[in-house]
Amino acid sequence: MNWLEITAMGMFAGVVGTGAGGLFSIFVKKPTPRFTGTILAFAAGIMMSIVFLELIVESIGQSGVGAALIGLSAGMLIFYLLDHYLPHRHIITVEEAHLGSYLKKGTLLALGIALHNFPEGLAIGSGFAGSADLGLALTLLIGLHNIPEGMAVAAPLQQAGYNSSKVIVVAALSGTPMGIGALVGALVGGISAFILALSLGFAAGAMLYIVCDELIPDAYESAGAHLSIFGIFTGTFLGILFTEWF
Ligand SMILES: [Zn+2]
Repeated sequence: MNWLEITAMGMFAGVVGTGAGGLFSIFVKKPTPRFTGTILAFAAGIMMSIVFLELIVESIGQSGVGAALIGLSAGMLIFYLLDHYLPHRHIITVEEAHLGSYLKKGTLLALGIALHNFPEGLAIGSGFAGSADLGLALTLLIGLHNIPEGMAVAAPLQQAGYNSSKVIVVAALSGTPMGIGALVGALVGGISAFILALSLGFAAGAMLYIVCDELIPDAYESAGAHLSIFGIFTGTFLGILFTEWF
């Protein structure tokens, strides 16, 4: 696959996944925080199976454990720094925003989503640079996990009284950074096996950071521990099953 096709796959996983989430969210009418929290935990479970079963395994396979660990550390460190120095909002907390910051609520949310979706696109792009099978499996898994995330993006907009088409469009747009991530992954991952291993490890570290910093805490806050654990369990269960199938 060339870089244009890979970018299109990333865009597809992002825009169709989150857009479908926005669409489902319309049918659920006004999703409760318990519901949104549980599906976010589900998305977290899928993300963790992608990190450990696909990205880390492929990174080690490309260039050994050293490259995988360097990539993982860089991903976690850079996302820690971004988290620390760039003010942005997590998906679910947008409605209770009281912002003393200079950036507007919408911008902060968009930034949060962009930060979240970029490394997932990077995973897809580097996946394709590794093999078509891996790239396709990642596109489908990440696209699937974007559905609950799109629903979580849509929920506060619905509560704010946005009309249905606007909710779907905003949810779908939130997936676009994934296409950019996929492009970067395809270009960088094509340089050498070592760079590809670093890129896969980096995506793994960034995604693990997001799971621990955003998805799981947001889920616990909204749905409590037990529903969140149920969501994480179902996501991990499906992630393992899916990885075995492809
Ligand atoms: Zn995600």
